[in-house]
Amino acid sequence: MARKFNFYAGPSTLPLPVLEELQAELVDYKGMGLSLVETSHRSKEYDEVHNGAISKVKSLLGLPDNYKVMFIQGGATMQFSMIPMNLLGPGKTSNFINSGAWAKKAIADAKIYGDVEVLYDGKDTNYTTLPDPSSVKTTPSAEYLHITSNETIGGIQWKSFPKTEAPLIADMSSDIMSRPLPVEDFGMIYAGAQKNLGPSGVTLVIMRDDLIAKANQNLGAYLKYATHADSDSLYNTPPVFSIYALGKVLTWIESQGGLAGIEKKNREKAQVVYNAIEAAGGFYKSPVDSAVRSDMNIVFTLADSQLDKEFLAGTAELGMLGLKGHRSVGGFRASLYNAMPLEGAKALAQYMADFAKKHG
Ligand SMILES: *Cc1c(COP(=O)(O)O)cnc(C)c1O
Repeated sequence: MARKFNFYAGPSTLPLPVLEELQAELVDYKGMGLSLVETSHRSKEYDEVHNGAISKVKSLLGLPDNYKVMFIQGGATMQFSMIPMNLLGPGKTSNFINSGAWAKKAIADAKIYGDVEVLYDGKDTNYTTLPDPSSVKTTPSAEYLHITSNETIGGIQWKSFPKTEAPLIADMSSDIMSRPLPVEDFGMIYAGAQKNLGPSGVTLVIMRDDLIAKANQNLGAYLKYATHADSDSLYNTPPVFSIYALGKVLTWIESQGGLAGIEKKNREKAQVVYNAIEAAGGFYKSPVDSAVRSDMNIVFTLADSQLDKEFLAGTAELGMLGLKGHRSVGGFRASLYNAMPLEGAKALAQYMADFAKKHG
C-alpha cells in the first residue's frame, strides 16, 4: 500500500493507526457480531465510546469542571449561527476580530441575530496579520468576543490570546488539539472535526456553564446548547461513526505526548517548510506576517507564477496531494495538521529546494 502525503486543508489526513483500527473493527466490533455503526446509540458499547471521547477531550485540554463538552452536527458553519441565536438577540452586541475568510462568515451570520462591532479588521493588510492580543479590549456591552484561532485559508494563527472582559469565543476548527491552550481564558471553543480530530460530521463544542445557563431558551431543542449539555450530547442520534473515530484520534494524540508533544512536532514540521521558503532566496514568497504565520496551513507563492502548473504537477508525481492554494488566495498551501508526519514536511521541503535550483 502506498499512502500519499496528504496536504489537503480539510477533510484531511488522519493517523494511519486510527484508520487501521477502524478497518479492523468495522465489520465485527469487539465480538458483538456487528459494527458499532449498526448498533443503538443507547447500547453499552456505544456509551463507552461516546463518554470515553468526552473524557479524553477533558483530560487532553485539562478542562476545569465548569465546562461542558458537546458533540453537535452541522459543522463549524452551524456554530456561526447557533452562537448568536443563543447569546445575541435584538439590541445585544457582539465583538469580532475580522481576521479573514472564516471570521467573515461568522460575522455575516451574527449580524442576522444582533449587533456586531468589529474591533480589528485585517482588510487593510489583506488579512496577513493579527492584532497584538494585549491591545484587544472588548466594549462594555459586548456579550462576547469572537476570534478565529487559525485562519485556514489565509494562513495566520494567534500565538497567544487576548484576555478579555467579555467571554472569549474561538473558532478553532483548524488548530484544535495542535498545542496546549489556556482554556480558562475562553468562554467557548468550537471546531469542526475534519481537520485535526477525525472525519467530518461532528463539531466539538466546549462551553462554560454560565454561558450555557444565560443562553436564549426560546429556541428549538437541537439549537439550544443546554439540550446538548444536559443530555451529554445524546438528546438525539449522534454522528456515531465520527465520534467513534474522533475518540481514536484523541487516543493517538495521547500517544504522541499529548498536546505538548504534538505542539513540538507541529512546530518542527512547520519550521521545515518555512525554512524551505526562506532558503530559496526569493524564489518562494510567504504573504503573511512571520510573527503570526500558521503552523497548520502554510501559504506560499512562487515569485514567477508562470511556474505554478509545473510546480504542482511535480508534487503529484512524488505522491504529494492537496497543495493547490485556496481559489481566493492562489499560490500554494501546505496543511500540516497533527497527523501529517515529519517525513511529509521534509519531502515537500526537498522538492521545493530541488525545484528552485532547477528554475532559479
Ligand atoms: C473548515 C473551517 C470551517 C468550516 O467548517 P465546517 O465544519 O465545514 O462547517 C470554519 N472555520 C474554520 C477556521 C475552518 O477551518
